[in-house]
Amino acid sequence: MPRSRQRASTEPVRAREVLEVETSLLEGFTFHCRPDCGLCCFTTPAVAPGERARLVQIEPSFPLLEPAEEAPEEVLPVIAARPNGGACHFLEGNRCRVHAARPFPCRTFPLHVTLGQRVQATVVLSCPGVECGDLSRWGRARGRSTGTGPAPLAPATGLEGELRAVREELLRPETVDRLARTSARWAGVLRRVRRTTGEEDLGALMERISRNPPRPGSADLPIEPPPSEEARLEELPLTFLPSRGVVALRGAMHGWEVLAMRADGEEPHVLAVYPDPAEVPRTTPEGTRLLQGYLSYVARRDVFLSLALARWADDPVEAPTVGEIAEAMLRDLALQALGRAQVLARLRGRPADPLGPEEVEEGVRAIDMDFLDQAALGESL
Ligand code: SF4
Ligand code: SF4
Repeated sequence: MPRSRQRASTEPVRAREVLEVETSLLEGFTFHCRPDCGLCCFTTPAVAPGERARLVQIEPSFPLLEPAEEAPEEVLPVIAARPNGGACHFLEGNRCRVHAARPFPCRTFPLHVTLGQRVQATVVLSCPGVECGDLSRWGRARGRSTGTGPAPLAPATGLEGELRAVREELLRPETVDRLARTSARWAGVLRRVRRTTGEEDLGALMERISRNPPRPGSADLPIEPPPSEEARLEELPLTFLPSRGVVALRGAMHGWEVLAMRADGEEPHVLAVYPDPAEVPRTTPEGTRLLQGYLSYVARRDVFLSLALARWADDPVEAPTVGEIAEAMLRDLALQALGRAQVLARLRGRPADPLGPEEVEEGVRAIDMDFLDQAALGESL
């Protein structure tokens, strides 16, 4: 059985099983954190009780936001961020003041780990420390250990510490119980899909889609804009540009705004406004290959199937098949990546029509974190 895609099973994982993490989607990537970045620290990381005690030793009264009273028991408090969409309280000059005691989400980034029917790790491509290399290889390669496919991939490098932190977390009984719950939920939806749409092996279906991802066309327009001016600054999609630092995108009355974000909590300022992309942005052949490679990569992620299942489960009577939902999701994702790529290319004075691979990669980086942040049927670790 290929490690890159297991057959989607209707049997839930039993509680107290020893958990393995599936890592084939890390292959071929290298990671080295950039000292000038700080993108992943524009957040409010959750803090477990043991981690809180270690942080208190460093700074006895650091700002911790407790969950709302009505929140489920398992919701953890978070470290406060600075105002105006600024960075985490502990970030100082792009360095974490509590690096050795940073909480779990910080110790595992740029890994994104999905608890579904199994535990799968994937790379957050928005992190500029992740060297994407040639993403288009994912349109062809199927992973080192499958024994098939034309392009075997090298093991990941630079992610050893992050993977160790994930494996430690998997030893906790609470995590095993969480996986048992998510996999039972997942197995239940799969049984309903089978009965309703007749789709049997969704793992194989995703593999087929990933080998030949759909192309977006004008029928898929308009491109979904970023959140509007009514959204809080903390909710805006962020990306890192080497020449500009962390920037956010915002939908405004006259087009898409690009904002320069300030880690220190000062008000961000608008760098530029561009008209909404009205057509499907064109790409060079290399740009097209890179985009297709990204879609192939996404379709191999368990979180992608999990999102498609969640959308199907929202309205199983009216919904199309899971396969149709998945293809529409990929076309939509492609359009959003291209829209963001075009705006960022204009900001940088780069060719915006057609978009080359470098510009498409920037669009991919600007969308991937948002894509992974969506609520799915499975949970993130
Ligand atoms: S986003 Fe990536 S490169 Fe940037 S600080 Fe975080 S881990 Fe480092
Ligand atoms: S705790 Fe440190 S690593 Fe984590 S978000 Fe805050 S500054 Fe960044």
